[in-house]
Amino acid sequence: MDRHSDSPGLGHRPDGARARPDRTRLAPSPTGALHLGNASSFLLCWALAKQRGWEVVVRVEDLDGPRIKPGSVEQSLETLAWLGLDWTGDVLVQSTNTKPYIEAMHRLAARGLVYPCDLSRAEIAAAASAPQEGTDETVCPPALRPAEMPSVFDDPGVGWRFATPEAEITFDDRVLGTQRVRPAQSVGDFVVWTRGGEPSYQLACVVDDARQGVTHAVRGSDLVDSAGRQLLLYRALGLEPEPTYWHLPLVIGPDGRRLAKRHGDTRVLSYRDKGVLAERIIALLGRYHGMGLSERLSAEDFASRLDHTILSREPIVFTQEDHRWLLDGTG
Ligand code: GLU
Repeated sequence: MDRHSDSPGLGHRPDGARARPDRTRLAPSPTGALHLGNASSFLLCWALAKQRGWEVVVRVEDLDGPRIKPGSVEQSLETLAWLGLDWTGDVLVQSTNTKPYIEAMHRLAARGLVYPCDLSRAEIAAAASAPQEGTDETVCPPALRPAEMPSVFDDPGVGWRFATPEAEITFDDRVLGTQRVRPAQSVGDFVVWTRGGEPSYQLACVVDDARQGVTHAVRGSDLVDSAGRQLLLYRALGLEPEPTYWHLPLVIGPDGRRLAKRHGDTRVLSYRDKGVLAERIIALLGRYHGMGLSERLSAEDFASRLDHTILSREPIVFTQEDHRWLLDGTG
């Protein structure tokens, strides 16, 4: 089957209920102002939705991360809107109601799939007997599970981990093609409830993708391995339909590292404050994603020109020339 074939339009509902439109989400983490790399992913996600008639919803992922700065939720939404991206319905802010995540934990516990574990990364690394080569993550081995798995989620004040099965997870990524991941090897028993007493990103993402009716998860390719963990949680929680994943090229600096402060100030709102137009930024992103060179491009034009079959499978390098080109467009 052509890896890019997919049906735009209506989602399949196995229960025969009335089909709902396909849906994607913009899920900013308001941990710092959105930079060009974030803008690239959100613009591509929104453009795919426009092309295919999907609904777009927004969810603010303000759990399980560095401390959220005051005002940063509003700033993330302002950035999306300034770029010309729109969405339907209310914005879901994860921290405002943790009940759905607690319910999910109860379900996982009832199935004997989670257990409390308050060990730090260093403690796990020290306790793990197998060498952990070739991975940046601390692999939490099954040997650290309790002799008897609990059947109730009775202490949300400590960390909890998911008992990851050995299975290889395969999924058809619409950008990268068939992906095979082995969460048991890459991370082992991963955190579903943090030691700070909050749902982890993996758990919250799955619970929210399901309750927001998300059929397409479009995001940076740094999350390919997370997709394996998330599919495991979908299955453990009996949720469906599982989303289709589209993992997008990351924007990196000339040193090969993810775009960050060390590459200068690439925050979208900083460019705006220097007088750069949104259309100039979108034109740069258009060049990155195979649309040739334009001086300016609106979000709508970007959507109509986008050909997702030619998206790069490699990261895209942001250079100082690109930075200067953006600033040249002012005034
Ligand atoms: N909140 C994540 C980010 O801003 C995205 C997570 C996701 O799309 O699943 O990178």
